[in-house]
Amino acid sequence: MTGPLPDYYRAAVVPGQLRASLCELCRTPTGDQYRFCFKCHDSFARPNAAGFACYAIGGDQSGTDMRRYKAFPPGAQALDNIRLLLEHCVNHLGCAGRLVGAGIDAVAVVPSRTHYAPGAPSPLQFLCTRILPRYLRRIDLRPAPGSTSDRRVHTDAFTAPECRDLSHVLVVDDTWASGATMLSAVTTIQARGAQFTSTLALARWLNPQYSLTHELIVNVERVDDWKKPEQACPFTLDGTCPT
Ligand SMILES: [Zn+2]
Ligand SMILES: [Zn+2]
Repeated sequence: MTGPLPDYYRAAVVPGQLRASLCELCRTPTGDQYRFCFKCHDSFARPNAAGFACYAIGGDQSGTDMRRYKAFPPGAQALDNIRLLLEHCVNHLGCAGRLVGAGIDAVAVVPSRTHYAPGAPSPLQFLCTRILPRYLRRIDLRPAPGSTSDRRVHTDAFTAPECRDLSHVLVVDDTWASGATMLSAVTTIQARGAQFTSTLALARWLNPQYSLTHELIVNVERVDDWKKPEQACPFTLDGTCPT
């Protein structure tokens, strides 16, 4: 990383005693000892590994940055912070490969469904073009005509070319909120034949208006145990790089 992230950034890692209540995939509190939240459990497909660079909290500066980096014009500081998060994750792409048992050989960046224009990269796609390693093949993931974000996982929200010759595709998006977009994208990539998929969301969105989420945030703050994104591996629940 070229500079430190501001102190308001928190890794998507909570202390050990609180981890058992999280969805093993999307790291949101499930309220019970369920392995997955309802959305991840019911999805048509799930990634083989999931990475998150940070938690972005609604109403907090970390949440605001996720919107400001892609505003017109973009917030310069927000854009710099998003770049730092992405650079941190790039250093851990090998960790996703180790978890899955196959190195990442291609990447699909989730396109905007509200501002999609063919041939015009989104702010995230632009950053990924500059920062992700060039040896990764780019998968042209596109929103299917008429597809909108309705917080549900669909089998036909996106289109993608054939992926049968690919062993491990990384799907990248800026924010995982309901998870519907990312899980729909994974569903498409798997249906196109990729052997393994991983996801990378720069931020796992936490909405403190949900009581379980509010409780989680309060509990971490009570023990004053947020980690900084730089201190954590994005791809593991405990933030330790897999060996
Ligand atoms: Zn989940
Ligand atoms: Zn790692």
